[in-house]
Amino acid sequence: MLVLGIETSCDETAAALVADGRVVRANVIGSQWERHRPYGGVVPEVAARAHHELLLPVLDRTLAEGGATYRDLDAVAVTHGPGLVGALLVGLAAGKAVALAHDAPLIGVNHLEGHVYAAQLEFGTLEPPAVALVVSGGHTNVALLAEDGTFATLGTTIDDAAGEAFDKVARFLGLPYPGGPEIDRAARTGDPAAIAFPRAKQDGSYDFSLSGLKTAVVRELRRREAAGQPAPIADVAASFQEAVVDVAVDKTLHAATDRGIEQVVIAGGVAANSRLRERMEAECATRGLRLLAPSPALCTDNGAMIAAAGTNRLALGERSALDLGVDPNLALTGPVAVAGGERP
Ligand code: ATP
Ligand code: MG
Ligand code: FE
Repeated sequence: MLVLGIETSCDETAAALVADGRVVRANVIGSQWERHRPYGGVVPEVAARAHHELLLPVLDRTLAEGGATYRDLDAVAVTHGPGLVGALLVGLAAGKAVALAHDAPLIGVNHLEGHVYAAQLEFGTLEPPAVALVVSGGHTNVALLAEDGTFATLGTTIDDAAGEAFDKVARFLGLPYPGGPEIDRAARTGDPAAIAFPRAKQDGSYDFSLSGLKTAVVRELRRREAAGQPAPIADVAASFQEAVVDVAVDKTLHAATDRGIEQVVIAGGVAANSRLRERMEAECATRGLRLLAPSPALCTDNGAMIAAAGTNRLALGERSALDLGVDPNLALTGPVAVAGGERP
């Protein structure tokens, strides 16, 4: 089963060829970072235009690298939400065109479900139940992938998303966009205990609040500036990162142990963070939990994760009609399939 995955929800123009929902034959990402960098963040109109320009070359390269033609495709999987409306429309239109022209089934995929299914590419299977921490540019979710294959959101952010907090703090520190990888790098030479930043919502819930932490960083930088001291970039980066990681690890593992679930998945761009991965690994090992952490390249947006999630949906007999629309606010709910696409 060879599936073409197309992903254009934000600022990555991506496509991939995936066999049987787990073997990546090609995974091509046309990044737009350089186009958005002057603005310090993603500009929706710039993103939509860039997808329009980049998508066909990205598709050509994907087929060439995967040694396939459009005629070899068994299906087309495409992100239809959540994300930027204009950006989503470009990928969805292309996916429909390929499906229609080559008589292949079309399946619309939830981008967040795609992030979670990156674990299936890395580990070959993703057998529910699991607790998933989905931390990305626009989302922060502790989700339950239930035995029956459905997702339920256990907790979410009441203000900033995790990736958004990383990007904003990086901007305050004068680091370029996207800020997550920059903070990760800067933090390596910093002391995570240098500054006691707040850990919000220590209330037993699985919800997050990150805007207070962001404000605390700004206050700390202003205080140093007023005192005529240079900004301690590495220490601020390390201390901020530690605060986010502390809360994310704590809430995710609480959700798993509260429900007696022994598998933890981390997903989304922030799951590429080296400190989050290190701490999750250590804490899961201590508690006897199995951690499924996709390699960093599969954590950030890509077409392979969309093909993987789409393959499972197709195996359930799901198909999308050619009048499928985009949904910028699509939630992480609804039925999903089990490992390898077969349901018992
Ligand atoms: P969403 O998935 O919510 O629709 P998105 O697709 O834009 O948003 P992703 O591509 O999944 O988000 O993730 C991008 C985010 O991940 C950015 O905020 C980026 O700064 C962050 N990120 C990437 N690498 C790292 C890292 N090593 N450490 C921390 N954050 C990171
Ligand atoms: Mg992105
Ligand atoms: Fe994403």
